[in-house]
Amino acid sequence: MPAGPEMPSFRVEDEAPAAEPVEQRHAGTTMVRHDAFLPERLIDADAAKVVRRLERAGFQAYLVGGCVRDLLLGGKPKDFDVATSARPEDVRGLFRNCRIIGRRFRLAHVLYGQGKVIEVATFRRNPVADDDEADLLIRSDNVFGEAHEDALRRDFTINALFYDLDRGQVLDWCGGMEDVARRTISTIGEPSVRFREDPVRILRAIKFAARLDLGIHADCYDAMVAHREELAKAARPRVFEEILRLLRGGASHRSMWLLWESGVMALLLPELAAFLDDAESTGDAAERFWRRLDVLDRMTQERGKPLDDVVLFSALLREPMVESCSGSRDLGAATNDFLQPIIERIALPRRIAEGISRAHMLVERVLRRGVSRLVRQELPPVLVDGLEIELVIHGHDTTGLVHLRRAPGRDDR
Ligand code: ATP
Ligand code: MG
Repeated sequence: MPAGPEMPSFRVEDEAPAAEPVEQRHAGTTMVRHDAFLPERLIDADAAKVVRRLERAGFQAYLVGGCVRDLLLGGKPKDFDVATSARPEDVRGLFRNCRIIGRRFRLAHVLYGQGKVIEVATFRRNPVADDDEADLLIRSDNVFGEAHEDALRRDFTINALFYDLDRGQVLDWCGGMEDVARRTISTIGEPSVRFREDPVRILRAIKFAARLDLGIHADCYDAMVAHREELAKAARPRVFEEILRLLRGGASHRSMWLLWESGVMALLLPELAAFLDDAESTGDAAERFWRRLDVLDRMTQERGKPLDDVVLFSALLREPMVESCSGSRDLGAATNDFLQPIIERIALPRRIAEGISRAHMLVERVLRRGVSRLVRQELPPVLVDGLEIELVIHGHDTTGLVHLRRAPGRDDR
């Protein structure tokens, strides 16, 4: 089926090559098959259904990426992704509940109940680099390929494992299983090349190390530090999104510590890095900063889902913001002056900046005058969460908040 007019930039290659046996396709690659029967009850039944239907139709199909990694490391996957030799149109032909998304690279989403989406991506390969050696930045990654090419284009070895559901085997082209066993993050190939191709991978390495409690291979870490300034070349919304993920995953303390230690924080959030570098003079405040992240992580783990973005960023920026606003007569203006450069640098959305500002005012008022005055006020839950964190951090009683949580109208933001 030809590409529709809504996807002009997508390169559709020649007709799919005649199917050859899987063994033949993998011949000559460095693939190692590891027996690793992952219990079927841990695998999403709909994802398994998608894989099996694709295979029955004669395509290759595997579970890939984060879900294989998390299962092998003993964790619970967030979602299950499928990689296949089938083209998006082929996938659509096989599933009624399928939608093709994306302009640049098209993916098939197979939709199930309760908003569940199984993402089905056609094998792709890294495009051949331009002649310009100095500039490795990948600007397009939309060329179909073979399974091994799809594995090797990925970022870290632990993210490049394919699971063959029927044989109960992990397909490994780059030593990912060893890194799983060692609980180590390594890039596929030369780290300095891979981080220059896509500097956002630096933040992804920090995210996986923190969230999954993994080590980072020394060469990989050195390259992260060496190439951190390339993050300035990355699209700002992607950078923002990754910072958010560092805060959301229930491991914000470890994430921020790594971000600071690697020197990446000094580029993305210099106001926070300078505040932490200055720990001698900030003493209690720095200690409060780390303790606040512990509270975030505990609340995230208890709730089993991320806290609101405003709560997360308020907690992150609170201490340097207080320091920067101290002595100012117009708290609102001082807060905005503090936030403005951050809005520009990491594309912090205005909605979040406004929320941070609002939460900041409220917390300052409550810390000065106590929570009792607020009892009758109707507060959105986001503000109550933020307030709870601050009261805990400052050693105040939080029982007064119970009434606020019950207040009517608390669901509007
Ligand atoms: P999470 O549990 O956070 O979703 P994930 O590994 O599934 O972790 P995604 O961002 O959902 O991460 O990406 C899915 C897969 O796509 C990754 O496992 C990795 O193989 C590949 N990938 C994602 N981002 C990149 C990137 N910037 N460069 C190379 N490969 C990437
Ligand atoms: Mg994922």
